[in-house]
Amino acid sequence: MSAERTPRQVSLARLVEFGVVPKRSLGQNFLVDDNIIGVILQRLAPLPADVAIEVGAGLGILTRALAEVVARVHAFEIDRSLAPALEATLSDTEVAERVLLQYRDIMKVPLESLEPLPTICASNLPYSVAAPFLGEALERLPSVRRYCVMMQKEVAHRLAASSGGKDYGSLSVWVQLHARIVEVRALSRTIFHPQPNVDSSLVTLDRSPIDPLVTERPTLMRAVVEGAFSQRRKLAVNALSASLGVPKEALGDVFRLAGVPTQARAEAVEPHGFVALARGLMEFGLDDRYNETPGRSGRAGSG
Ligand code: SAM
Repeated sequence: MSAERTPRQVSLARLVEFGVVPKRSLGQNFLVDDNIIGVILQRLAPLPADVAIEVGAGLGILTRALAEVVARVHAFEIDRSLAPALEATLSDTEVAERVLLQYRDIMKVPLESLEPLPTICASNLPYSVAAPFLGEALERLPSVRRYCVMMQKEVAHRLAASSGGKDYGSLSVWVQLHARIVEVRALSRTIFHPQPNVDSSLVTLDRSPIDPLVTERPTLMRAVVEGAFSQRRKLAVNALSASLGVPKEALGDVFRLAGVPTQARAEAVEPHGFVALARGLMEFGLDDRYNETPGRSGRAGSG
């Protein structure tokens, strides 16, 4: 393959050459626009020593562009049938030796064990994986300073939502406890092949300073955030009482200590309010059930 060929030519040529029939069930909407690769690299601002992680390498267009500018790329692809096309895109020696390619479901990868640890993330995320992957990666990969990822517009709005609106939920809180959303930019459906049935956005996230309680007690934090949103129509104190199994009266004291009104619904509580509630539970000794256990499998902020 000539390095000068544009992604449109490469993606479409690969599809024909290898007889690839995109699988909608795996969110296979391949990038066929060269401009967007440039935009991703510009927003990502990679350094030569960076280690990138990419979820869903597909035909390898983005993987290759990343490998040309960073030291290593951890590329994951669940669909082994793409191997001939993907490996053809990555076949140049220089590129090939920088790409650590694994045919695996990203949701089964122990992210914290990746070697070397990723420092940036760029992906055209498959629909079903975008929210759960980000929830996990933000918790388990503190080494990643910036994400520049494509996802369904509706998920992007949930990530960036402010308290008080219908889009604000456990995913918004979890993401905003770990990162700052720098930009959400609408994407045209024409940059993908086949064109998806939904709109997509490009989102840039920068890791932000994190309250130590979030990193030290993620299980407790998740229980508080997800418990509060488990019954959105109820007051947060009632929803949490049911989900944590703590009497409402005791929780009332926790809310008062945390400075969160007992009349608030979860959607009115700012991200730092959930940290204050978790801290309050600890103060009153109501956090025992949520001690960290090795090998926990909860999916943070996936909803
Ligand atoms: N990066 C390529 C591009 O931009 O053209 C492909 C992006 S396509 C939207 C998403 C890719 O993710 C598909 O190749 C799909 O097979 C892969 N995929 C879907 N679920 C996955 C999972 N759980 N783990 C790893 N890869 C997955």
